[in-house]
Amino acid sequence: METFESERAPQPRNMIENSMFEEEPDVVDLAKESPSYPIDTDDVVYEPRSSRLLVRGLGENDLDEDEEDYESSARLLGMSFMNRSSNQRSAASSYIRQHYSGSCSMPSTKTMVVGVVVLVLVASMLMVLYFLLGCNFTTAGCQKTNSTMDSIYPNSTNGELFPWADLRLPCSVHPVHYNITLHPDLTIMTFQGSVSILVQVLNETKNIVLHSSDMNIIKATFDGKEVHFLEYKPWQQIAFKFPEDLKKGQYVLNITYTANLSSSYDGFYNSSYVDTNGIKRVLAATQFEPLAARKAFPCFDEPAFKSTFTIKMTRESKYISLSNMPKVITTDLKNGLEEDEFEKSVNMSTYLVAFIVADFISVSKNVSKTKVSVYAVPDKKEQVQYALDTACKLLEFYNSFFKNEYPLSKLDLVAIPDFLAGAMENWGLITFRETTLLVGSNSSAIDKQLVTSVIAHELAHQWFGNLVTMQWWNDLWLNEGFATYMQYISIESVFPGLDIDTEFLNVRFKALAKDALNSSHPVSTVVSTPEQVEEMFDSVSYEKGASILLMLNATLTDGEFQKGVTQYLQKYKLSNTKSENLWNSLSQVSKQNLSVSEMMNTWTVHKGFPLVTVKRSGTQVTLTQEHFLLNAENSTDDSLWHIPLTYVSDKCSVLSSCKQVFHLKEKTATLKLPDQVKWLKFNVRSDGFYIVHYDEEGWKDLIGALKEDMNVLSCKDRAALINNIFALSRSGKVSFRQVLNLMDYIRNENETAPVTEALFQLGQIYRLLDKRSELDLASRMTSYIEDHFGSLMENQSWDLETSVSKMTLRSALLEMACSLNIRNCTTQAKHLFDQWFTSNKTSQIPSDLMRTVFKVAAQTDEGWGKLLDMYKHSINDPEKHKTLEALASTQDVWKIIWILQKSLDGSEIQTQEFPLVINTICKSFAGYLYAWDFVKENWDKITQKFSVGSFAIQSIIMSATSQFSTKTHLVEAQNFFSSLGTKGSQMRIVQEAIETIKLNMRWMENNLNTLQSWL
Ligand SMILES: [Zn+2]
Repeated sequence: METFESERAPQPRNMIENSMFEEEPDVVDLAKESPSYPIDTDDVVYEPRSSRLLVRGLGENDLDEDEEDYESSARLLGMSFMNRSSNQRSAASSYIRQHYSGSCSMPSTKTMVVGVVVLVLVASMLMVLYFLLGCNFTTAGCQKTNSTMDSIYPNSTNGELFPWADLRLPCSVHPVHYNITLHPDLTIMTFQGSVSILVQVLNETKNIVLHSSDMNIIKATFDGKEVHFLEYKPWQQIAFKFPEDLKKGQYVLNITYTANLSSSYDGFYNSSYVDTNGIKRVLAATQFEPLAARKAFPCFDEPAFKSTFTIKMTRESKYISLSNMPKVITTDLKNGLEEDEFEKSVNMSTYLVAFIVADFISVSKNVSKTKVSVYAVPDKKEQVQYALDTACKLLEFYNSFFKNEYPLSKLDLVAIPDFLAGAMENWGLITFRETTLLVGSNSSAIDKQLVTSVIAHELAHQWFGNLVTMQWWNDLWLNEGFATYMQYISIESVFPGLDIDTEFLNVRFKALAKDALNSSHPVSTVVSTPEQVEEMFDSVSYEKGASILLMLNATLTDGEFQKGVTQYLQKYKLSNTKSENLWNSLSQVSKQNLSVSEMMNTWTVHKGFPLVTVKRSGTQVTLTQEHFLLNAENSTDDSLWHIPLTYVSDKCSVLSSCKQVFHLKEKTATLKLPDQVKWLKFNVRSDGFYIVHYDEEGWKDLIGALKEDMNVLSCKDRAALINNIFALSRSGKVSFRQVLNLMDYIRNENETAPVTEALFQLGQIYRLLDKRSELDLASRMTSYIEDHFGSLMENQSWDLETSVSKMTLRSALLEMACSLNIRNCTTQAKHLFDQWFTSNKTSQIPSDLMRTVFKVAAQTDEGWGKLLDMYKHSINDPEKHKTLEALASTQDVWKIIWILQKSLDGSEIQTQEFPLVINTICKSFAGYLYAWDFVKENWDKITQKFSVGSFAIQSIIMSATSQFSTKTHLVEAQNFFSSLGTKGSQMRIVQEAIETIKLNMRWMENNLNTLQSWL
């Protein structure tokens, strides 16, 4: 699966503040008339007062007249931003933001009394919950756990004892083949199903236990005889109990059932879109990974229970149906119904099964023995060709790279109008968001980079994940880390112009940032609950997984990696593996006698990564490793990694042959250099997953060398120095003064990787200062950025550009310039927007600048209205995506509230966009507290749409909290998360959010005063 993050598209990691443009009114008049953008009659929430209350989830009468000023958490938390006077603002910065007309002082007495009462209530509820959770509920009442057999085996729905007491299924019975017949009714959104499972009893047993969720089972038979079944809903399991042991052998279990098509994004779910004639069209599609096949048919829903599948689908004749395998036959059932039967599948895991009923069109092409097709809604038939060509080229690449041809005779890529993940690798039937598959005529190379990356990732899964599958979700990285790494390898080879290398460097930086937190986890982690399984779909499995594979490939000599991988696929195809199996295959081909297993286990078993400290004295270099944590207080971690340390020096630094390797396995080791050197740079091109700190002299020498001639280091090495020194500063190991020392050279820099990394880091600090209302420092940071990047910003053209690298560079620079309102950026952007709009879009806005231009336009009522109209009618997905980001970047609170509501209820903005909307709104000063309030108030609704632990929830929580840096906000977040109980308090992302707020607080404490003198 490919997760979908807003930062991915179209400019990865471009997290620049986007919010403050001078045309915004200084003060928002909350009593002004209804806004000019279209509001439905049911949008009474826009009536000023009620909308404020609605955000907080309060009734209109809950506040007194004297509390009519905005009472969001901003006020209740005593946030200082309300105290900003317009004098302060205009003096401190050139941009002007919204301001609430209500005065802000201490919370009113009533507020405080209400607060105390709420706290007492919450505390009482927590105590009640605490006692209740210690027991098992049965029909007989509350029993203590572990005291009797009754509490070990849970009670089924009907009160009988359920015969199994583990989240994982027993191994005594395996599925061999499934015959699945389905009939979805797209009018009433239900489906009828029947599944016939050929099972193999491996060990004698009285029970068969399998998964089933949210379905109404009508009848079950076992070898032709009707049988009684039990259900234990919390674990989504059903069981068949037999009076005698079942002997070893094969049996047939038959189950008929009905269910609703899911209205969330998993299982067999319904989706809809509005065509260009304004007609709503419906479809049904599946998303099973990780745990939702059980919502479509009863099954042994664990990746190791591989089986074959034959699927039959009944549909109305106006639709088509698709599944993993090619269609064998269509039978006319009369009454306008037809039944499609698909070929028997290869041996595969349940999470890879897929089917779709829709009215899509397609284009096709053959590659070797495989027919490749791309499907989309009829309105978008012009946008499928790029995906088809790209998929064909990449399939050829993988067929040859893996030396194992793709085994199916067809491969469909389908763009689904409402789809939560980025894409899903179902074998033979890959599903995508429209944004990650469709490319319009005015899409830029950056849009193509995104589409190409997602296709490359999903195609790699056809081998890593589909052909060879991890045994269990603890090793999810074997699927995701590998597919992520292969996407970079394949694109580098097949599409060298897409500058994917710089993107991969950014991905490694992102993984390092996440893995430097205490709340991170090892690449391979024990998981059992559904929430824990969902949580594995994170940066560690994907991005760290890919990063350590790059490090390994860079350590092995030429060709060994590919050879080892090929052998691994050959040996384990159609079965399941653990990390160890991969390492052994690679060890066998390594000519250096490198124990891949010994080295790589240190990277998959420990959480985090090492910091290597370098101290040089003449030709003697002392190297020390320690676990790098942004907050290392009370850490007693003595993990050691086997680090294939690489380095270059002033003697030879740019050519790839200059790279030297030293294996650091101990805590400390000494490296003896053959000659005296002026400077050393470790972790060449940042190919290794570690960061490096030098002693004072070491940094001085490197900074000196960069100032003299920055080209002595590759641009990746320069970007890595910037990344590492900011991380070291955040951990407290170097002062911010030293960061600025390094950054002195940047005025000469014009390469994409170092400039975008520097802007990303400075942008993060700017946002924290801004949200803390440190307006003077924020303004100084603006001057600093202008001073260091101003001329480069001015040198950027606004014309069409073809180089991806140049586009990435200029879009980062101009988005920053416009957000800070420097170097005439907003004037240029407005001009371009007006010209484009008045020419009826015949003049062009370069696609890579569209987001920046639209964000500027979205700051006026008129511009926002035009953009909303475009959003509603556009069928060009990259453009639509950027339009939505612009709409969500507004500073107008009414519009912010409107977007939040519409994207959650899915009426005018699809719910799939809600995480993106939250992310964008949270970047702006005007919106981040509203968004936080909204998330809190709507938590139940949000977790109905997105599973607890899923990447969507991870993104929503991090977006909503990552810019808090005060004790008050920390307590507020802690209180909220601890109140969630089973709805999320145990999520790892919650720990991550709390840790991030604490780190922000510490950074502020340590640096606020010193920044005054340094900036
Ligand atoms: Zn994936």
